[in-house]
Amino acid sequence: MSLHEAMLYGKQKDKKVKCFLCSRRCLINDDATGFCLVRKNEGGVLYSLNYGKAVSAAVDPISKKPLSHFNPGAQVMSIAAAGCNFRCQFCDNWMVSQDRTVSGKWFPPAEVVKAARERNCQGISYTYTEPTIYMEYAFETAKLARQVGFFNTFVTNGYMTPEAVQTIAPYLDAATIDFKGGGDPNFYKSFSSVPDVEPIYEALKGLRRNGIHIEITNLVIPKIGDSVNRIKEMATWIKETLGRDTPFHLLRFHPDYKMTTTPATSVETMEKAYMTARNAGLQYVYIGNVPGHPAENTYCPNCNELLIKRYSFEITRWNLTKDMRCPVCAHQIPINGSLHASGAPFPYALF
Ligand code: SF4
Repeated sequence: MSLHEAMLYGKQKDKKVKCFLCSRRCLINDDATGFCLVRKNEGGVLYSLNYGKAVSAAVDPISKKPLSHFNPGAQVMSIAAAGCNFRCQFCDNWMVSQDRTVSGKWFPPAEVVKAARERNCQGISYTYTEPTIYMEYAFETAKLARQVGFFNTFVTNGYMTPEAVQTIAPYLDAATIDFKGGGDPNFYKSFSSVPDVEPIYEALKGLRRNGIHIEITNLVIPKIGDSVNRIKEMATWIKETLGRDTPFHLLRFHPDYKMTTTPATSVETMEKAYMTARNAGLQYVYIGNVPGHPAENTYCPNCNELLIKRYSFEITRWNLTKDMRCPVCAHQIPINGSLHASGAPFPYALF
C-alpha cells in the first residue's frame, strides 16, 4: 500500500504545508502530523494516512444516521477510517476516532462499492468517525458509487472548510450535521477542544447552496449541554437559515468514553428540548435514542395525522401517498427520494 497524497493543502516555506481540509487549517512541519493525526507532512508533501483503511464497515438502515426524510427504509454501506479533528469527551466511537495508530483494514473504494452492491444497498454512508478527515477515501468511493447509481451521505461534525464542501458537494446527496450541547461555543471549547463553532454554520450554508439534503442532530447532555435557551437559538437559526421543514433530531446522551459518570439524559429533559424546538417553529423535530417514544414518528404539520410510525431504526407504518402527501389533508411532506420497503431494519457489521 503506497502513501496517498492529500487533497486540499498548500506548500509553504521550509517544507511546511498548510492543510485546508477542516477549519483548523493546521500548519504542519516536515515529518509531523496535523491535529487529526491522520495527515502527515513528509518532505513538504502532505499525505493521507487513512486512505482506503476502514476501521469499520457495516450495513445500516439509513434511519441510523439519522436521516428520516431521505430515501426512507433504504440500507447503506457504512464505512469509517481512523482519526478525528475533534476530541469529544463523550464520543461513542472513541476507540476508532481517537486511534493514534491509524489502524484499519485495506478496503479500497472499488471494494466498498462492490460490497454495497452484493448486499443490496442503495447508498454509501461515510460515518462513525469524521468523514472530512478521510476526504480522499470518501471522495474516490463517492465518485465510483455515483457511477453505479448509489447515493452518498456524510455524517459529519460540520467543521469543514468551504474548499472541502465544494470538493465533495458534486458527489454528496445528503448530510447529517451533528451538533453537541446546543452549539454552545463554550461547550465546544471545554468538551470537544474546538476553538470556534462559526465554521460549522458556514459549512451548513455551503451544503445548502449546493442543494444537498440536510438533517441536523443535537446531542443533549445533562446539565452541561441541555440548555433550552441554546436549543431555542439553534432551532431559530435552522428555521431562518435552512427552513422550518429541516428535520431536527435531539439525541439522548448515554455515558461513554471520559464521561461515564454523567448519567443518561432523562426523558423529561428530552421532551422539554423537543417542545422548545417545536415552539421555535420547526416542523419536523425528533427524539433519538429513546426507542418507542412518540417523537420518533413523523406527523403532518398541518393536521397532525401520524404519517410515519417508527420504532428505533425501523419503519413500522407508512401512511403517505405515493407523491409524499398527507393522506388526510394532502399537505406535501418534504421527503427526498423514495420509500425502500425491503431495507434491513437492523444494522449488521462486515468488520
Ligand atoms: S484535516 Fe483538519 S486537523 Fe487534520 S491536518 Fe487538516 S486542518 Fe489539521
